Amino acid sequence: MWRSLPTTRLRASALKSRYDAHILQKHLHRFNPAKFTTPVCALCQTLPSGPQTETLAHALGGCMDGDTHAMVCRRHGDSVHAIADTLRQSIHAHVYSDAEGNPHAMSSRRLPPALLGAQPQASKPDIVVVHARPPVGPLPPLAALDKATASIVLVELFHATDASLPERRLAKHSQHIALEDQLRATGWQHVHRATIGVGHSGTLLHDFTSIATDKLMLSSNTTHKLASRISMQTIKTNALILSSRKARQHTSNHGDTAFTHASHPAHDPQPPTQEPTPDHPPGHGGQRRRSTPHGRPARTAGVQRARSRDGSLPAATRRRVEGSSGEAVERLVASWRDSDDRTQQPP
Ligand SMILES: [Zn+2]
Repeated sequence: MWRSLPTTRLRASALKSRYDAHILQKHLHRFNPAKFTTPVCALCQTLPSGPQTETLAHALGGCMDGDTHAMVCRRHGDSVHAIADTLRQSIHAHVYSDAEGNPHAMSSRRLPPALLGAQPQASKPDIVVVHARPPVGPLPPLAALDKATASIVLVELFHATDASLPERRLAKHSQHIALEDQLRATGWQHVHRATIGVGHSGTLLHDFTSIATDKLMLSSNTTHKLASRISMQTIKTNALILSSRKARQHTSNHGDTAFTHASHPAHDPQPPTQEPTPDHPPGHGGQRRRSTPHGRPARTAGVQRARSRDGSLPAATRRRVEGSSGEAVERLVASWRDSDDRTQQPP
């Protein structure tokens, strides 16, 4: 699956997500607690959610930092709409969907009265599919469907770390039991639940194929294309979330307790100057940052490559960030410019 990814960077990001190998605050603190004094996520430590360890699950799901949360919601919305759009184009059924961060989202997630009546809706699935029987001819209106033969599928989709997918699926799969009971009580005789789990590395839970072909009535070929689309979207968005977080963590002015580490000038316990050695040439002080052959700090060089020459965000990156928030884009650009200003100062 990962071999089909268009760039080495995406392949590397997906594999790192698979094996929890992205370097996050949790890892920095574990391997060098003297330098990185806390495992806490710097982006959300002051929010009401409280200080939380920056793990992969946190960075790609649980973090309440506004920009991260917006991109996480967008990722969920993109996956849900990929499925809903495919269903609308491929099968003989009524499809109701809602997903955040997409201009085609419904204004209300309430199911039509013809489906549930006027009673309060117990829960709101990501997608509701109503299959007409037999699946031929023009699609009858919802009110004209035979409740004894038509079937309803309540679809819920979630993203999680690869390792936690089976456990999360158990919790998610019971989410719409009450709604299923409501629909059965309304007279619909064939109501099913389908839970689709997507790992942060782009992998889908093993039962995705059977859900897509048996419950959603997609062909094998369409199912394969849909799985690839969801995987690709997930990998790209996760890579963007992680790079965006990293850029902001390293260049923003979170000069407070959680992310400050021993090499920060204001908190550096080491002497400000250090005897030059072959490994630590003059001008680098106690920061011990890796350098490129051109003398530029390695991390900053990566940021430089990601930008246009005028300092603006590249058009492709800007398009990927769209949908999180315009503020996030501008903040990312500003932080990179700040980084550039610092690197241009004389040593
Ligand atoms: Zn956080």
